[in-house]
Amino acid sequence: MNLKKLIRNVPNFPKEGIIFRDITTILQSPEGLKWAIESMEKSLEGLEFDYIIGPESRGFIFGVPLAYNLGKGFIPVRKEGKLPYTTKSKAYDLEYGTATIEVHTDAFTPGQKVVIVDDLLATGGTSKAIIDLVEEMGGEVVKLVYLIELDFLQGRKVLGDYNVTSLINYD
Ligand code: 5GP
Repeated sequence: MNLKKLIRNVPNFPKEGIIFRDITTILQSPEGLKWAIESMEKSLEGLEFDYIIGPESRGFIFGVPLAYNLGKGFIPVRKEGKLPYTTKSKAYDLEYGTATIEVHTDAFTPGQKVVIVDDLLATGGTSKAIIDLVEEMGGEVVKLVYLIELDFLQGRKVLGDYNVTSLINYD
């Protein structure tokens, strides 16, 4: 299936010079959505892990159905101030300024294995922050899965030796 045809390219969003890869058009397509979830699921075949963890908001869209289909739990990573219980936070650099993500302190126990799921890998900053957060809490990141990877931003370099799979690539 040619999923690239189902991705809408939006020039100059969120700012001048950026082409935003809009996945809402995949979600809209029953075949596209099915292909996306099933393909991400295949990349996890045979892997032992405890949880899928994903950042708001598009990480939730793909992470929850994957977790459900694979009989795992899902852990939400949210922006600062959104999670109601006690949290652990991680600040990371954006192009301008910083962002902070949070996870509940009892989301998993030390030694448990997690898979990070998101819609898109760009610079790798968000995923690296999640890796740091998980590891500081004693968890193990066993894989990262993305629908889309923007290869030219070289996010994989930031992710180093972690096991990374993406389904659609833009050079
Ligand atoms: P990174 O931290 O790897 O630079 O950026 C990845 C994060 O930004 C992901 O959570 C992703 O949802 C969002 N993102 C950045 N650029 C795009 C884009 O072109 N399309 C979509 N759908 N998400 C993007």
